[in-house]
Amino acid sequence: MDKIYGIDLGTTYSCISYVDEFGKPVVVANAENERTTPSVVFFDEDKIIVGSVAKESAKLYPDRVVSFIKRNMGNGEFVFKYDEENEYKPEELSAFVLRKLVGDAEEALGEEIHDVVITCPAYFGINEREATKIAGEIAGLNVRQILNEPTSAALAYGLENGEDKVVLVYDLGGGTFDISMIDIKQDSIRVICTGGDHNLGGKDFDDRIICYLQEQFVEQTGINEDILSDLETAQELQNSAERAKKILSTREMVPISVNYNGEKAKISLTREVFQDLTYDLLERTMSLTHEMLEEAKEKGYYSFDEIVLVGGSSRMPVVREAIYREFNIEPRLFDPDEAVAKGAALYGNKLSINDELIRRIAEDSGESFEEVRSNLEENNIDDDILERVLQDIADDTGFKLAAVKGANIEISNVVSKSFGVVAIDSKGNEIVSNLIFKNSTVPCEVTKGYGTNEEGQESALIRIMESEVSESVIELELAQEIGVAELSLPPGLPYNSPILITFTLNEDGRLEMRARETRDNKNVEIAIETTCVISGDELVEAKERSKNIIVS
Ligand code: AMP
Repeated sequence: MDKIYGIDLGTTYSCISYVDEFGKPVVVANAENERTTPSVVFFDEDKIIVGSVAKESAKLYPDRVVSFIKRNMGNGEFVFKYDEENEYKPEELSAFVLRKLVGDAEEALGEEIHDVVITCPAYFGINEREATKIAGEIAGLNVRQILNEPTSAALAYGLENGEDKVVLVYDLGGGTFDISMIDIKQDSIRVICTGGDHNLGGKDFDDRIICYLQEQFVEQTGINEDILSDLETAQELQNSAERAKKILSTREMVPISVNYNGEKAKISLTREVFQDLTYDLLERTMSLTHEMLEEAKEKGYYSFDEIVLVGGSSRMPVVREAIYREFNIEPRLFDPDEAVAKGAALYGNKLSINDELIRRIAEDSGESFEEVRSNLEENNIDDDILERVLQDIADDTGFKLAAVKGANIEISNVVSKSFGVVAIDSKGNEIVSNLIFKNSTVPCEVTKGYGTNEEGQESALIRIMESEVSESVIELELAQEIGVAELSLPPGLPYNSPILITFTLNEDGRLEMRARETRDNKNVEIAIETTCVISGDELVEAKERSKNIIVS
């Protein structure tokens, strides 16, 4: 049975995990014996270094080191450049992080890794998800699923917590904030609602400290220069700020020194000042949480049992305090650095046991893999057969029966954005007509009818739009174009000839589209051309380029 590994590809730190024969997720340490690896890439002379060494190198070679890559996933404009001629897109940079995690784990475990589940913030849109999947492909991996981080954390949490509960997963990581309401039961995990901001995380707290240090430096030395324009000083301050922030999670005060051009300032940062500097960031997480709770009410969920904190930044005592103040409930910090990777491994294990189960039943019954899969989904397989095959799998793989059965948990997710197409309203204005609304359960499929705009129209350009607005018709400005598709039409169509557009969102939250021109009744699968993600020849080249580079 092929093992499927779980990878938390984080903004600041990443982590890889697998499930052992007892059904427990195990984190694999990297070559430096760390359980999480800084998601930092250093372009050394003839190779690429990822992790702590890269993070440390940032001080000496600031223009050859790249971090916070995840913030630019799906951003078609972003490239990291060094030595003028070398350019890398976020997908390629993330692929180096993945290769480091996978390479070190292969070395440690003495086996090859092919199939993985990679997590991303629930708040990621289509392009960001696609870019994450492409990063895996460039790294030579078979990405079985892109899984939402809160769902992943809830899976790990559900494994350790026997009771049925409705929990809020408050996930404040290095660069993103996700808040989700999840209904956890013994045999199912159901995401009710999700919200957040993919540009709000620990880095923003660090940035506030950096600004403060700069101001204090000017005050103490009288040197009124932009010390951050010096890359080396900027890196030094970034590292000092993150270190200070972490210390303030356990102490009341931290001393920091700032050196620039032979001048030195000694600064004492107290927890109180840090809280004042970052108050609005925390408040934003609270208001996003309230927004999400309002949406949950529309789905009949008016209360929750527990708040679970994940993500490294939720270690800050201010997070607990703010939550207690707001909801009068003591939140529970749950394995903040590893829960997401462990949940992804549990999900991977579920996929792999499921594959094996289907394969064996198909072999015994002579039915096709797809037939068995759909029978299994519809609970159409005899309990005795299921029990026997699960026992066989346990016997053959060395997995405990309870672990094999435990993997058979049902998971349902929601989508964090609304999706629609550009259409023209009765006044001739371009608007967005939504087909799928934010917080709909996935997978889902929606079909809506439109009409051609001109007599004899030869083709229709379908512009696919993503937004955060859950209304059927919204203004163009409120949505972002994520791709286009062109539908060729038969000749001689009259004005307003019907075209049916179908959006299908798969379990990963990735989108597929079909269109049907109803006169000739032609179904057309249309590839969505995403403008922001590496594809086609460029992808082939990126894979080749990655293969020829040593990553350590
Ligand atoms: P994650 O993306 O979940 O790995 O979270 C990483 C973020 O957590 C980074 O911004 C870290 O600086 C932050 N972090 C880790 N440990 C602590 C801590 N003890 N106190 C405050 N922030 C922390």
